[in-house]
Amino acid sequence: MSEECLFCKIVSGEIPAKKIMEDDDVVVFHDIAPQAPLHALIVPRRHIRSLDELLESDDGLVGKMHRVAGQVVREAGQGDYRTVFNCGEAAGQSVWHLHLHVLAGRPMKWPPG
Ligand code: AMP
Repeated sequence: MSEECLFCKIVSGEIPAKKIMEDDDVVVFHDIAPQAPLHALIVPRRHIRSLDELLESDDGLVGKMHRVAGQVVREAGQGDYRTVFNCGEAAGQSVWHLHLHVLAGRPMKWPPG
């Protein structure tokens, strides 16, 4: 846990969030500024700053984050969806604790902005 990290504080319950599910590895909650009718964030419990800090031993964790994304979408009654990891400031990362965005419920364009 990083003491200054917002998502670590959500994981520990120190800061409230609209949680969707949690287990030993991940916590899933609604984004505070949703960009689609469903906008969930899938966050590992362990503090990992970004994709660039993943270890080979995290391969299973990242696979699980994607599997959970599909599960969250189905349980929300949504259909097609997009998953996004922003990695680095220029790519749009603003919170330095790994998170997978899951967006669904509206048509989406490509390329993203
Ligand atoms: P990124 O810009 O990829 O790092 O994504 C960070 C996301 O965290 C943004 O979509 C924010 O809206 C979201 N966010 C920031 N603070 C909170 C919070 N307290 N609860 C839920 N989501 C948050």
